[in-house]
Amino acid sequence: MEVKTKKADPSDYYLADEIFLTEEEKLVRDAAREFTRKELLPRIQAWDKGDISPHKSHEDLIRSTAKKIADNLGIFGLNLSGLGMYLEDPAFEPISHTAYGAALRELEAADSAIRSLASVQSSLCMFAIYQYGSEEQKKKWLPSLHRAEKLACFGLTEPQGGSDPGDMRTTAVKKGRAWILNGNKVWITNGFADVAVVWARTAEGIRGFLVEKGVPGFFNRCEEKWTFRAGIASSLSFTNCEIPEENLLPGTARPPGKDLACALACLTEARYGICWGVLGAARACFQEALKTATERRLFGSPLAQKQEVQRKLTWALNEIENGQLAAFQIGRLKDKGLLSHVHVSLAKYNNVSKACDVARLCVELLPADVFTFDAFHSGRHFRNLEVVKKYEGTHEVHTFIVGSAITQLNAF
Ligand SMILES: Cc1cc2nc3c(=O)[nH]c(=O)nc-3n(C[C@H](O)[C@H](O)[C@H](O)COP(=O)(O)OP(=O)(O)OC[C@H]3O[C@@H](n4cnc5c(N)ncnc54)[C@H](O)[C@@H]3O)c2cc1C
Repeated sequence: MEVKTKKADPSDYYLADEIFLTEEEKLVRDAAREFTRKELLPRIQAWDKGDISPHKSHEDLIRSTAKKIADNLGIFGLNLSGLGMYLEDPAFEPISHTAYGAALRELEAADSAIRSLASVQSSLCMFAIYQYGSEEQKKKWLPSLHRAEKLACFGLTEPQGGSDPGDMRTTAVKKGRAWILNGNKVWITNGFADVAVVWARTAEGIRGFLVEKGVPGFFNRCEEKWTFRAGIASSLSFTNCEIPEENLLPGTARPPGKDLACALACLTEARYGICWGVLGAARACFQEALKTATERRLFGSPLAQKQEVQRKLTWALNEIENGQLAAFQIGRLKDKGLLSHVHVSLAKYNNVSKACDVARLCVELLPADVFTFDAFHSGRHFRNLEVVKKYEGTHEVHTFIVGSAITQLNAF
């Protein structure tokens, strides 16, 4: 039989996008790809360097970027099947989880912090409100979060140890018709947001609360960091904050011993997006290294003609393509309602560490200009991806999740 496949295309080598995405899903992907090309890539290196002009502040830059993402892609919460009920928009059509993943992959081709902005808004916060909120909370927050008129953040991690959220020290004590919140959260993406989904220990176990900006006793302080520089992460502190009773997320009540389940379910949503997103960053590095190695002549011939360089490029392509197949598989499992958190852990474990390795290899393949802010994108991806390996469950934590599942012996 005649093989009709076009010449090997390193941007979709196994034709996974071509074969597995429907025509509607390709439109979502293409819109995100075009947005990244036009709006993000020309600016992201300046943002990484700290040049945020013409914005007044970094917060202003993030709010305006989120608004542009919402206006152009409408991606925030777009894979929540019942979101339309709260938007009062008869034309609203949710997208598949696979299409959502493909869109995040395109955003992360610009920068992991931009994808993270989408993950926090959609998968951590809108999901938490959609899944566990009261009807009033959903009506109040979901439309404005979808349109990025408001931003949300997700406060789980505490200073004494992020990998062990069961050791939570933030408390919420019932007093009349209010809850009194005390404690500290660290490394909270968009900690300046209009509403924080905060997890706190009550007499009945861990529960989620909506803490609105401006509540007396609630402060945030932005962390200086040498990576993820396009994004903001902050420490949050709560001192005798009075949270109205109606701001408790009622659906987060769980029996003792299971009270972290809701916070962890939000993490599973965000980790799903990460499994896709990092492939965008890895692919951006690979394409940059491939192009440069093809154009750059050393020792009388293109660098890409050397067998050792071809070995490295082939290794990187192989890892990206295998990661793609895993992403498509978890996407379709999620679309069919078959995806479990242990599937997501294995995919995060693989895709993030391989993306880190690909980025590091590309830094190795590129000339020394890779260490400047302006010449290439791979150095920034390399820095960013180390964060992605650490947050949303570190690489090691995901090995324990998978290990515990396959051995039926709890490693925690
Ligand atoms: C830029 C950025 C944004 C973030 N955004 C958010 C956010 O929006 N909301 C939020 O709640 N959190 C957020 N985080 C926090 C993040 O989720 C935590 O950093 C992460 O959970 C790891 O916790 P930790 O930093 O305290 O590291 P630790 O838990 O102290 O881990 C340190 C090291 O010890 C290893 N380790 C831990 N336990 C074991 C063990 N049993 N055996 C072997 N090794 C182990 C870990 O794998 C890791 O390598 C963010 C972090 C960053 C950097």
